[in-house]
Amino acid sequence: MTVASDEHLRRLPKVELHCHIEGASRAATIAELAGANGVELPVDDPADLYKFTSLNQFLDIYGVVCASLQSADDFHRIAYECFEDAAGAGIRYCETFFSPGFVIKLGVPVSTVWEGVSAAVVDARADLDIFCRMVLDFDKPSGPGHALEMAEFAAAQDRDLLIGMGADSVERGVDHTVFADAYAAAGRAGLKRTMHAGEDGPADNIAVAVRDCGCDRIDHGFRLLDDPALTDEIVDRRIPLTVCPTSNLIIKLVPDIESHPFARQRERGVLAMLNSDDPGMMRFSLADEYVTVARAFGYSLEEMEAVSLDGIEASWAPDDEKAALRRRFEAEFDDLRSEYGLEARAA
Ligand SMILES: [Zn+2]
Repeated sequence: MTVASDEHLRRLPKVELHCHIEGASRAATIAELAGANGVELPVDDPADLYKFTSLNQFLDIYGVVCASLQSADDFHRIAYECFEDAAGAGIRYCETFFSPGFVIKLGVPVSTVWEGVSAAVVDARADLDIFCRMVLDFDKPSGPGHALEMAEFAAAQDRDLLIGMGADSVERGVDHTVFADAYAAAGRAGLKRTMHAGEDGPADNIAVAVRDCGCDRIDHGFRLLDDPALTDEIVDRRIPLTVCPTSNLIIKLVPDIESHPFARQRERGVLAMLNSDDPGMMRFSLADEYVTVARAFGYSLEEMEAVSLDGIEASWAPDDEKAALRRRFEAEFDDLRSEYGLEARAA
């Protein structure tokens, strides 16, 4: 077993499939946009903006973040900065969420959001060493009408830029079966499908996502192992989970990372990979996550390289892109091992 240094783990090439541009926003940027857009911050010092200790506080601050985003330029800026920070964490490929549900309620049309976000994707591909596609998340509490509208909007966009549809926000009190029609519409349009499920809600919501809504990926899936038959199905169908251990810790789903089901999910054969969720607001990058998870579970470098490669398999990139990413990641693994004086990977 090879043990890697923190710096080595931070530098591993990574895929991220569960990060929200709104939650990735930098506090200083939100402070500036809030000022320009006449939104009052709840703190005097922007450095204190993201110091929250409960889910309710998190959601309050999330509201301030969204209220501060009004023009296409605002969305371009937070999306582009999200990709810059992701590239800095070693992420080479990402499928990233944007969630227009909240700002739509504040009067900003989804077309304005997408104008800024899609331009940021194009710019980031040209400027940065990261390749990004977007996933439109609808807001579950806004109901099936909103979900269908978002599916129709997503269907009309360039599939190379907007690859899929997802759903986020709270699970409690939401009947997930009502979204089946919106997901069917998304599927007919060739959009990939995922859903936040089994985070603060039961494993039943994961079952609805994969069986009723045609999802081929699950975001969080924290409660999956509660249902052994469903776990078998998820393992057999190689349906990936985009797992976010530190995000789950911060909202107190677990008392510490050691108690998180990520390691047990992988031992069970689940294609579970690592993500940061809201790296700006949670002040914790995917590079931090790799170190934290490796230490909590005593993972070897080999296991962390496998976690990284599982991100490629879990992605929706075309097969030729996946093969190229895998070759690139393996070459980078070898270079890093040689730089840190570690033995080469087993053939
Ligand atoms: Zn999320």
